[in-house]
Amino acid sequence: MNASSYVGRFAPTPSGYLHFGSLVAALASYLDARHAGGQWLLRMEDLDPPREVPGAQDAILHTLETYGFEWDGQLVRQSERLDVYAARLEQLFSQGLAYACTCSRKQLEGYNGIYPGFCRNAGHDAEDAAIRLRVPELNYHFHDRVQGEFRQHLGREVGDFIIRRRDGLYAYQLAVVLDDAWQGITDVVRGADLLDSTPRQLYLQELLGLSQPRYLHVPLIIQPDGHKLGKTYRSPPLPGDQASPLLLRALRALGQQPPAELAGAAAGELLAWGIEHWDATRIPRSPTLAEAQLR
Ligand code: GLU
Ligand code: ZN
Repeated sequence: MNASSYVGRFAPTPSGYLHFGSLVAALASYLDARHAGGQWLLRMEDLDPPREVPGAQDAILHTLETYGFEWDGQLVRQSERLDVYAARLEQLFSQGLAYACTCSRKQLEGYNGIYPGFCRNAGHDAEDAAIRLRVPELNYHFHDRVQGEFRQHLGREVGDFIIRRRDGLYAYQLAVVLDDAWQGITDVVRGADLLDSTPRQLYLQELLGLSQPRYLHVPLIIQPDGHKLGKTYRSPPLPGDQASPLLLRALRALGQQPPAELAGAAAGELLAWGIEHWDATRIPRSPTLAEAQLR
């Protein structure tokens, strides 16, 4: 095989088990990487111990194996990279690009989640405070391989956002850009629930002098009852004995057209078919209705 410069990744959070929506995201990133002859890395985003479901990490790895996914290299855990996050955060803070915020939840009520900037110039001590990144009054835009042009005004639509919580936990936004860069990720393929996080990540990459990957956000899956599968609503954990039918359904949700003869094929065979025939231009742009009940 030709050496490819493509490096993709799947980055589950162990606050729950993998569900059909995560399968669709994992499958898209896997097929996109393998079709390009690239690597596919696995990163456990275990930044938030209080929210971690005991046993979820093992269950996620086991499910990926059962569904036939093979990752390259060692699993990376974000919990092992806290020193890196701390150092870069300190750098942003000392440069005045980030600042300490002592606002209580109550003080921030009524601002629709957009930080009103109370502590921007307060010069609070970093200890026992949340750390927020100062965002510019700028429109950010990028080209997504499926969603097309995406724009967001960081000041008006996002506001200064937290990169370390008051309890000392690092935010996803900071960790994800540091790790994507450190792991040499060229292509981020993930669920569209993260589309509106991307401009924050672009801004952080810019500040930290990191290279920017290409992005592809796969549509969210809508359950027959109208719920979107994503962070706030999860379908049941992926059952271990349904790998083939669910992989087939995930392929179809991604607009791929596996032939009828593949029904009943083993997971490995389905993935092999998917790698060979992968066509990212077929991925639908908007949420896809799951064909049937997910279990
Ligand atoms: N850990 C995130 C999640 O499970 C995904 C992060 C990413 O792909 O950037 O939703
Ligand atoms: Zn504040």
